Amino acid sequence: MNYVSTRQGTAGITASQAIIHGIAPDGGLYVPTEIPSVSLDFIRELCGLDYRSRAVRILGLYLEEFSQAELEQIAAASYGDNFDCPSIAPLHVLDDKTGVLELWHGPTCAFKDMALQIMPRLLTASLGKNGEKRTVSILVATSGDTGKAALEGFRDVPGTRIMVFYPKDGVSQVQKLQMATQEGGNVNVVAVEGNFDDAQTGVKKIFADKGFAEKLNERGYFLSSANSINWGRLVPQIVYYFSAYCDFVNEGKLALGDKLDFCVPTGNFGNILAGWFAKRMGLPVGRFICASNDNNVLTDFIRTGVYDKNRPFYQTGSPSMDILVSSNLERLLYCLTGDAAAVSGFMAQLSDAGRYDVGQDIRAAVQTEFYGGWCKNADSLKEIGKRWSEQGYLMDTHTAVASRVLADYRAETGSDAPCVIVSTASPYKFGGSVLEALGVRTEETGPALMELLAAETGIPAPAPLACLADKPVRFEKWVEVGDMEQAVAEFLA
Ligand SMILES: *Cc1c(COP(=O)(O)O)cnc(C)c1O
Repeated sequence: MNYVSTRQGTAGITASQAIIHGIAPDGGLYVPTEIPSVSLDFIRELCGLDYRSRAVRILGLYLEEFSQAELEQIAAASYGDNFDCPSIAPLHVLDDKTGVLELWHGPTCAFKDMALQIMPRLLTASLGKNGEKRTVSILVATSGDTGKAALEGFRDVPGTRIMVFYPKDGVSQVQKLQMATQEGGNVNVVAVEGNFDDAQTGVKKIFADKGFAEKLNERGYFLSSANSINWGRLVPQIVYYFSAYCDFVNEGKLALGDKLDFCVPTGNFGNILAGWFAKRMGLPVGRFICASNDNNVLTDFIRTGVYDKNRPFYQTGSPSMDILVSSNLERLLYCLTGDAAAVSGFMAQLSDAGRYDVGQDIRAAVQTEFYGGWCKNADSLKEIGKRWSEQGYLMDTHTAVASRVLADYRAETGSDAPCVIVSTASPYKFGGSVLEALGVRTEETGPALMELLAAETGIPAPAPLACLADKPVRFEKWVEVGDMEQAVAEFLA
């Protein structure tokens, strides 16, 4: 199976090369030329396996250059005691028709771990397969969750170094502490004087500096990225859709072969797109409910076929969904149309005018598989309070957006189809908003909020967050945007 760019559609490369390159030279994203299909028997077999073995079976279909033994070894190292629960991605049954897929039992307590615990291993194995001897140096600009998950995934992985830039005053105290206390011999974290866009622009400039790349090459390094457009991050996410389906069947809530819906709190469209790939492979899914917060650009797109990022940007209590350009949507458009020229055209319009219209046919194709809905920040907080008081289930702000949108969807369409809400973060990561939702007023900030939340709910904070306050701070350096490259040069001396 080969991988092609969404913008050119020609000259395929292998999976390992797609993982090394991340983004195609023409600016497009890599997609497989064909989507493997599986039978119900295959899914029945998965139902009897644990998460790791499910992962090996699914990944093997896409990563043909990796042997079974190699994938087994990689999956065992990626999904083990680094997760605080042996089932890795447990399904919590809320009621007969509703489950919650908890994707936050990894070391950084957000769903990014599901991919970033395994992607560094896929990347280093890919380097070996392509005879690459230099050390790969990952540069990340982060607005919070991705930076920490990437640091934790790459820490002490041989043949790699990682440097993360975050906006000095643009992340939560817990997020800052998570990064500043990062362990590992190959990691570095630097704050940037500026906002997330400044940090991101600075990183892009470093990537584009050919002279700098040459200098690093002489030192035995090359730069790469770990962001969510890399195929190596998307493919591990397909696994948990199969896994959730099997667990719903195993719980006796669904007959094998019957359809299950998924409701996904969405930002960059990476998580939900992995689910769509699972459906294309043959997983019996009814619909994907794409849930947005006040930044509802995807809701409008799914309803009208017009993607328009010219709109106000809102900062909400679900910051990982505060996004106006959902990069992975490009992959869906390519896979639905197979038309690289059309996709290139849409992306050119997006960059020139901030807007494109896919027309009636593509809109109809999107609508048969996706429903778009959104909710206001205040309503997502109410949802946290409601689920807690009525069902004793505590959810984070992102999951709450999905939960509320699902309730609206069911009310609007009359659907009584079983549905899994995809839960993307531990409530302890966003303790301030969750406490507010439970009606607790406090002046506290940072780690003290976690103690309050634990006292209020009786649910202990996850260990990696609970121990933060006691960890030594290792990284305190901050730089001006103009000095970011110099900081990289010093790290890779
Ligand atoms: C990244 C993230 C999301 C959004 O996921 P996408 O793949 O970008 O759509 C939602 N919730 C949380 C907690 C996240 O960290």
